[in-house]
Amino acid sequence: MGEMGEPFRMVESSVADVLGGLGSFALVVNDPPWSGLAGSLPPPASVVEAWNMDLAHLEAVAAGEPEGDVVVGLGGGTAMDTAKFLAWKSGRPLVQIPSITSVDAGFTDAVGVRVGGNVTYVGKVRPETVVLDVDLVRSAPAHLNRAGIGDILSCAVGLHDWRLAAARGAGHPWDEPLAQLGERLLADLSSARDEIAAVSAEGVRFLAGSYREIGAACAAAGHSRFEEGSEHFWAYAYEWLTGAHPVHGEIISFGVIVMSFLQGNDPDRWREIVADCAVRAHPGDIGISRGDFGRTFSELKSYVRRQDLDHSIIDEIALDQDAVDGAWEHVSCLPRQGGQA
Ligand SMILES: [Zn+2]
Repeated sequence: MGEMGEPFRMVESSVADVLGGLGSFALVVNDPPWSGLAGSLPPPASVVEAWNMDLAHLEAVAAGEPEGDVVVGLGGGTAMDTAKFLAWKSGRPLVQIPSITSVDAGFTDAVGVRVGGNVTYVGKVRPETVVLDVDLVRSAPAHLNRAGIGDILSCAVGLHDWRLAAARGAGHPWDEPLAQLGERLLADLSSARDEIAAVSAEGVRFLAGSYREIGAACAAAGHSRFEEGSEHFWAYAYEWLTGAHPVHGEIISFGVIVMSFLQGNDPDRWREIVADCAVRAHPGDIGISRGDFGRTFSELKSYVRRQDLDHSIIDEIALDQDAVDGAWEHVSCLPRQGGQA
């Protein structure tokens, strides 16, 4: 990859085979899949259940010094992030085994934690290996795997925001190779939509492979401007305001549909990809009410400045009643996918 950074080593293997070769390891898990797998895996030196990303909680877990020469994350986003924190804090090697493709956390080096309800990055750690167990991933609920498009589709809004910011000389300067990577991933995503909707082995490999490239590019660049923009900022503001934490890739897909509309950035194209991948992003599927939608927009401009988030469309246009009504109507035209709400 050269200038794009060296991607994390990724192997396709079964969890049992990988853990069997590690010796002594601290296993950081989500449940599911943990209790369904525990009986068929080599016993860990210690097990840490991941659920709380607050810095104070993570510091307490690390202070308990869970035993094991290697830290292994097994599960979804909180397992990956908690494992990163423990490996970073203790200087032990890290192996990541994502059990779903709903988030890119297994493929990024940034150690993200929550402080006062907001995500903060405290350090960096590079996994020795990311293990892709295709059968394990495919056994997870289909909607969680499909949600994996969120952190790829976010390139659509992120690139547009970055272009706006770079034109004003705000933040990281434009980087054409990074932008081209984002454009290619979006084109590939568009081609992979049937595989993703079906959660086929090819669909799973596409999502994991894309995360791997994005993770390497972000690590090399030292920022994630090309894949994180106002769609993430909207989601952060919504989560801060409501205390709700929808599936990350689902709320990010929602955010892409909403913010691309406000950007005037080919909004029908991105909504169609979300629909064809059968991703839950309709507000009714992910529990976003019209009231909370409006309240988030009322707070959004002050939120992004207070959090010192990158310059984006949020700083450039009026977020008035017309804009918010139009965005709500646009995202409400997405087909329902049978979500919980
Ligand atoms: Zn994300």
